[in-house]
Amino acid sequence: MLYNSRMAEPKNLIILGPQGSGKGTQGKLLSAKFGIPHISFGELFRSAIASGSELGRQVKTYMEQGALVPDTIVLVLLREVLDAPAAKNGFVLDGFPRNNEQYEELRQMFAADGRKATFVYIDLSEDEAVKRLANRFICERCESIYIGNAGPCQKCGGRLIQRDDDKPEAVRKRLRLFKTQTLPMIAEIEKDTQVIRIDGAPPVEEVNKEILEKLNLK
Ligand code: AMP
Repeated sequence: MLYNSRMAEPKNLIILGPQGSGKGTQGKLLSAKFGIPHISFGELFRSAIASGSELGRQVKTYMEQGALVPDTIVLVLLREVLDAPAAKNGFVLDGFPRNNEQYEELRQMFAADGRKATFVYIDLSEDEAVKRLANRFICERCESIYIGNAGPCQKCGGRLIQRDDDKPEAVRKRLRLFKTQTLPMIAEIEKDTQVIRIDGAPPVEEVNKEILEKLNLK
């Protein structure tokens, strides 16, 4: 079996779920608990845009419209992050893969590297996702998430902003992409291995507890 190393070392955790389900929040908590890097392409792209780098210029329009960044860009980055020394002892990959092509590439890379992964799916209804995103603010410096703009950031004092792709039109597009591309991909993953399902509706700490319990990591 290629995948599902529940418990095995290194911990290669892959967190999937619709927008607003808490992938980033849970990814950061798991990363801090196990001392492994949290890899989020969304975050990586947002900071590239903020810094005005070449990568930022390439991905800006896709991001703002809520479209997926082309696989050609994402896959080169994936190779880089998997090869980074920091990822040697495991990682939390958040928001990748998102379509069948990305999954296939991941499968091949992992097979070639002899790596195993554990898939976690955080579930949330579409209504709840839309509600959360409409009211979601992030710290422009450390990307901590807040409901409502109560700024400044309690962790680092940064300014709270709303993401361009959390605006209603982009949210609808992102959720549509999730349904048409990511859900069918999850069905494909489930043919290969178990995907551990978690209810994303309860408060952050409870969701975190459920993840740790279901992964036998508590
Ligand atoms: P997120 O922060 O995970 O919601 O991602 C924000 C945006 O980053 C997405 O709407 C895409 O434009 C881009 N992105 C993140 N992950 C991927 C991926 N695996 N493939 C393509 N684009 C991605």
